[in-house]
Amino acid sequence: MIRAGRLVAIPTETVYGLAANALDQAACASIFAVKRRPADNPLIVHVEDALQASSLGELGELGRQLASTFWPGPLTLVVKGRRGNATVALRAPAHPVARQLIALSGRPLAAPSANLSGRPSPTTAEHVAAELGTLVPLILDGGACAIGLESTVVDLSGPTPLILRPGAISEEMLASYGVLPATEGAAHAPSPGTRYQHYQPAVPVVVIEDGTGRTAAEVIDEWADALDRAGEVPALIAVGQARERRWQQRCFGSNAELATGLFAAMRELEADATVLLVSAPSAEGIGQAIRDRLRRAAGGAFHRAGEVPNWDLPKGD
Ligand code: AMP
Ligand code: MG
Repeated sequence: MIRAGRLVAIPTETVYGLAANALDQAACASIFAVKRRPADNPLIVHVEDALQASSLGELGELGRQLASTFWPGPLTLVVKGRRGNATVALRAPAHPVARQLIALSGRPLAAPSANLSGRPSPTTAEHVAAELGTLVPLILDGGACAIGLESTVVDLSGPTPLILRPGAISEEMLASYGVLPATEGAAHAPSPGTRYQHYQPAVPVVVIEDGTGRTAAEVIDEWADALDRAGEVPALIAVGQARERRWQQRCFGSNAELATGLFAAMRELEADATVLLVSAPSAEGIGQAIRDRLRRAAGGAFHRAGEVPNWDLPKGD
């Protein structure tokens, strides 16, 4: 099917992807059509290894080093393209099903997340089927994704190596390679994809951060109560202890477990709730990637525990 220019949804260790032969322009155009993705948001190309990557882009010394350390795995490298594109984003995924499809088809696979543009990424084959259904002729079911958040994107095409999107390969893991967090390279253009609304469930997301004197964990039940009194149906997502049983909730044992389950939790809870209350995780390791996705899901702002919340909720669609 890949060789015939059709689309195949594939499991990867990050999220499910909607894959097509990266060398077939018409096939890639159908990815944009199915996802309703803005035309100026480029796709990541999935390759077997650094050798295949080198046929599509110039990895350079640092790119080869990063690839040999982190591939196959959740790291995407934006490098100078070799086939007419100024730049190309490349990643060798670790999931055995994705790897086999790349190897068997003999093609690099262009694959963004297999969701409608703007929605949370799918982390199971069922999510893909529910959202894209008959628009995708084949979904390969590889079970639930181990990481649950999209890859870290590092730009090696400019003067300074820069993180464009945080992911499981964290800022801390990249620091010794001289790769800078995006905020420190303000002069650099952001990744095209970061301009758009992203990761948004059908109902508003309210994220609570620890404040001075009070923690998010302390206030989340109070806030849920206030929302309930205002006629909303709150549901909770948090790391730590289960909350008051009145609320539908997904509580996770660690940041890594929250990363794995966050998008699935959003998809499950949006069915009955009218607002999702999330307590923001700490920023180290994968916490930074979770906070990035939550910030976009919430439309930009976090609230602080201890401040009086203003329930002027953005309307969901
Ligand atoms: P996804 O939709 O999850 O596959 O996201 C792909 C991400 O990689 C988006 O943020 C894109 O904007 C980014 N990306 C892909 N290709 C490039 C490129 N050539 N330069 C910069 N960012 C890119
Ligand atoms: Mg996506």
